[in-house]
Amino acid sequence: MVRHNILNAHLYRKYKRVLSPLCPCGVEEQTAEHFLQRCKRHDQERAAKWSEDTTPNRKCMEVWKI
Ligand SMILES: [Zn+2]
Repeated sequence: MVRHNILNAHLYRKYKRVLSPLCPCGVEEQTAEHFLQRCKRHDQERAAKWSEDTTPNRKCMEVWKI
């Protein structure tokens, strides 16, 4: 899983540990929302795992087990 990378934006703000909060796709910051809803790099992954009407909250619960 890419859990480590997903949190780049968060880590950047909180710890300044990563060089850039930008997602490797280059579109925007690599936030959880970007990853779960919009990132083109993970389109296929999302399509395989979730139907289109799956809510972001539901996705978060499954990804981070919260
Ligand atoms: Zn992205």
